[in-house]
Amino acid sequence: MRDYDFLVIGGGIAGMTFALEAAREGRVALLAKRSLEDSNTNWAQGGVAAVWDPEDSPRFHAADTIEAGAGLCNRRVVDLVVEEGPERIRELIELGVRFSLKRENGTATADYDLGLEGGHSRRRVLHAADHTGQEIVRGLSEAVRRNDNIDVFEDRFAIDLLIDEKFGFASGRPQCWGAYVLDTTSGVVEAFTARATLLATGGTGKVYLYTSNPDVASGDGIAMGWRAGCRVADMEFIQFHPTCLYHPDAKSFLVTEAMRGEGAVLRTPDGNPFMKAYDSRAELAPRDIVARAIDREMKRRGFDNVLLDVTSLDADFLKERFPVIYQRCLGYGIDITTTPIPVVPAAHYMCGGVMTGLDGETSIARLYAAGEVAMTGLHGANRLASNSLTEGAVFGHRAARHAMRRLREDSSKAPALPAWTSGAAVDIDESVVISHNWDEIRRLMWNYVGIVRSDRRLARAAARITMLREEIQQYYRDFRVTRDLLELRNLALVADLIIRAARTRRESRGLHYNVDCPERDDAHWLRHTVL
Ligand SMILES: Cc1cc2nc3c(=O)[nH]c(=O)nc-3n(C[C@H](O)[C@H](O)[C@H](O)COP(=O)(O)OP(=O)(O)OC[C@H]3O[C@@H](n4cnc5c(N)ncnc54)[C@H](O)[C@@H]3O)c2cc1C
Repeated sequence: MRDYDFLVIGGGIAGMTFALEAAREGRVALLAKRSLEDSNTNWAQGGVAAVWDPEDSPRFHAADTIEAGAGLCNRRVVDLVVEEGPERIRELIELGVRFSLKRENGTATADYDLGLEGGHSRRRVLHAADHTGQEIVRGLSEAVRRNDNIDVFEDRFAIDLLIDEKFGFASGRPQCWGAYVLDTTSGVVEAFTARATLLATGGTGKVYLYTSNPDVASGDGIAMGWRAGCRVADMEFIQFHPTCLYHPDAKSFLVTEAMRGEGAVLRTPDGNPFMKAYDSRAELAPRDIVARAIDREMKRRGFDNVLLDVTSLDADFLKERFPVIYQRCLGYGIDITTTPIPVVPAAHYMCGGVMTGLDGETSIARLYAAGEVAMTGLHGANRLASNSLTEGAVFGHRAARHAMRRLREDSSKAPALPAWTSGAAVDIDESVVISHNWDEIRRLMWNYVGIVRSDRRLARAAARITMLREEIQQYYRDFRVTRDLLELRNLALVADLIIRAARTRRESRGLHYNVDCPERDDAHWLRHTVL
């Protein structure tokens, strides 16, 4: 058993921000399922939204966030994120994160280059060219690794949270005392105990066949939180990024929204621009509108993809502003300066998750959630582009501050908890069943619970996922745990929660669109879908 003051499950922007803050007062264990550099944060391209320009104001940022959120943003949370965001970004800069500077006549100025993205009424997206996430992870992970109060454990898979009432210790509100964790290299499961635990496990993109997310995004934190007894909300609101590269060899490669901010035009494969027919903001309409428009054009005309055309922009500007996309596309034989980029929509961001309060606290004592795993109330029914990195930093910081205050007031230690036992479980001998079920879930979710939904497809998905979950639960009882089995179990649960939420909401709003109830219904549904 390993004992710490703080256990941080997840090493993206939310987890590392929490860890650095909490380490001022206690010993921190930071877990990452693979390497610290393998996270959604690391893949973020466009940037991080914050009021930076003197002409801009938190009021405008709040208004844009609320407009995108389609009536479901929590005003207090929005205000707090837009007010505190710039301070968290200043701290990143102090840690050594280098955001791109504005250039004049080829020379860098002292001002940051602020990008414009869909749904933002002002330029307010700080970025490091088109590899913002990588630069943020570099700055944060260097600081985390050199901090003597933080122990980083990579290749560690948190299986389940240690909740006292499940072991018969509860007195009053259930409390979390850490987690059982699998060392995926040795296969050994250890208990990590802590006086405060943060879920910062990121997103759920891998639930879908096509996603912009890396493999770590299998919704583990939501699944752990749900099994522990947390309230989970708004799972039907999944953002599909309109533009992922469509190429047989490209796995999950996103083409940033910032390109549309700079003037890229969406066209059908026969060359016609179509966005104006769907929204007066055309390419700068919020993501859900753009993704649905693409989905509609593809289904209506039977296209496999559409095109994102930046060929009218200056070639040198494109190479400097979007170096990663330029190089990556070139590797697939597409020179973006002369050829439109083939793109399709893909699952990108989970707006729902473990419900938290203003300090990232969950319904279980000593348990916090921050970042994409959490439903703080910021995004409502649709996330405004580049608000998620900001949210992760703000809530990672707030949760740490809250946990530090609590630990100062209460010096209780974790009770003696039982070690993990495998019982009669044996090593899995048929990995094919895992990969088959994994594939089935992802296809089922893509086909039945995708960008456009219907009652019949959702009902079919619900019936199928129930059977799959029973099967998977049986494997979980019979076989020794592996990363694949644990991810499959979590993926199936998260899929089930998404389907349940989607069936519950009898209207269409923000990212949830059901052809059988296509209108927004404020009289009945101006509320979160709390499961
Ligand atoms: C391609 C792409 C581009 C994006 N671009 C932008 C952008 O420009 N701006 C923006 O604001 N947002 C963007 N996003 C979204 C944003 O990157 C994420 O929402 C955000 O980074 C999530 O941060 P996080 O700290 O919550 O989780 P993550 O960064 O995903 O980190 C999750 C961590 O949890 C760990 N983990 C997961 N499960 C377990 C487990 N069971 N046990 C132990 N560890 C576990 C992982 O290993 C990882 O370390 C983008 C996302 C993608 C995929």
